[in-house]
Amino acid sequence: MPDDSPNSWEARAAANSFYGFTDLPTIAQRGTVVLTGGEGPYVTDVHGRRYLDANSGLWNMVAGFDHPGLTQAAKDQYDRFPGYHAFFGRMSDQTVLLSEKLIEVSPYSEGRVFYTNSGSEANDTLVKMLWFLNAHEGKPEKRKILTRKNGYHGVTAVSASMTGKPYNSVFGLPLPGFIHLTCPHYWREGQEGESEEAFVDRLVAELEETIATEGADTIAAFVAEPVMGAGGVIPAPMSYFNKIQPVLQKHGIPLISDEVICGFGRTGHAWGAEAYGFTPDAIISSKNLTAGFFPMGAIILGPELSDRLQKASESIEEFPHGFTASGHPVGCAIALKAIEVIMEGADGNPPLIDNVRRITPAFEAGLKRLAQKDNIGEARGMGLMGAVEAVQDKATKLPFPGSLSVSERIANACTDQGLICRPLGQAVVLCPPFIMTDDQMDEMFSKLETALDLVFDEVA
Ligand code: PMP
Repeated sequence: MPDDSPNSWEARAAANSFYGFTDLPTIAQRGTVVLTGGEGPYVTDVHGRRYLDANSGLWNMVAGFDHPGLTQAAKDQYDRFPGYHAFFGRMSDQTVLLSEKLIEVSPYSEGRVFYTNSGSEANDTLVKMLWFLNAHEGKPEKRKILTRKNGYHGVTAVSASMTGKPYNSVFGLPLPGFIHLTCPHYWREGQEGESEEAFVDRLVAELEETIATEGADTIAAFVAEPVMGAGGVIPAPMSYFNKIQPVLQKHGIPLISDEVICGFGRTGHAWGAEAYGFTPDAIISSKNLTAGFFPMGAIILGPELSDRLQKASESIEEFPHGFTASGHPVGCAIALKAIEVIMEGADGNPPLIDNVRRITPAFEAGLKRLAQKDNIGEARGMGLMGAVEAVQDKATKLPFPGSLSVSERIANACTDQGLICRPLGQAVVLCPPFIMTDDQMDEMFSKLETALDLVFDEVA
């Protein structure tokens, strides 16, 4: 229960801070969890309570909440050169090094990188890049963006328009020209008697029809998360991207992989696209890029888009776009270290991606075990991202009435036991840090199971 004395942290948080994506009645009732620090995958609140954060913060603190190597990289860079921009023909040495590194770890032998402060800005920037280069190439109408319902691409006006969530209607979004196709969630969207392959074929046909109706010359890109994250952890069927991509290629529409969550190891692969066996035309990265130690996003353009953008920019002598902190030297130094820590191994330790691969079978087994419950309709995921979806009726997949706020109750019951996980729709999401031990994995599943049992006893 919250300490509701006027000078409590909870009251002070509520008095002066505006919350985003927060259920205000829940906060009024339960108070804000005010955090002071962390250790490994645990965070600690002002009352000294410890929580296992099964969401890695917001999918991003993949190396945990106290990584000495990452902290040292930040300190060293603050000592050397604490801030600079990437405008007017200047940029920091760390920015040069990071771009080289990102191309090296990307699927591209050559290409170029542009930096932002967030994933939202990276998606916005990508769209502006495409609008700009298409206009330069004499196709100013080639501006529409295809994404999917339930896909999440950010909150700025353009990236929110890409996001396929109904809540954006309160802002009068999406903007015109942002088209949301069917979510590739076979369990929810597949029709009675339809095989998974037939489902994929139906989505491919929908794409073809959309291109025919809208006109390929009006469509600038198809942007997709390999595994949808904030949509509720939804892995597309394995054949989806390999069937979608040839259609896009035939019509000259780039396929952009939003790897903000999937990139750098979350699926057990360097990129979510790699897990699905496709090469996108560009990659959007953020979150894991700095292991959450610095706000940073990046657009990694493959060779073709990179050349076309370069030509368009040369034609007017510049690409008129950039953020004050684009390519911030401290962010770049942290990202260089994070890539080493996750992908290569640093300071005598094996790469964290090895641990992702090691613990994924236990993670999958834990999800499968929860799927046995009468009120779990589906357990799904890939690598170290997973979700269990609550249902009132397993056979018909009938959801619980929204008024019961089942997933919020489960998440609250988890918090009460010292486990942070996130409600998303009727699902509860798990996205633990890459450093998890076997014991921590057991702790996570046993606390979640207790919470599920408590809530299902109340509502079922
Ligand atoms: N794309 C994806 C796939 C994301 O998951 C997110 C953030 N959850 C974003 C873009 C937006 O990133 P940011 O919150 O850093 O703006």
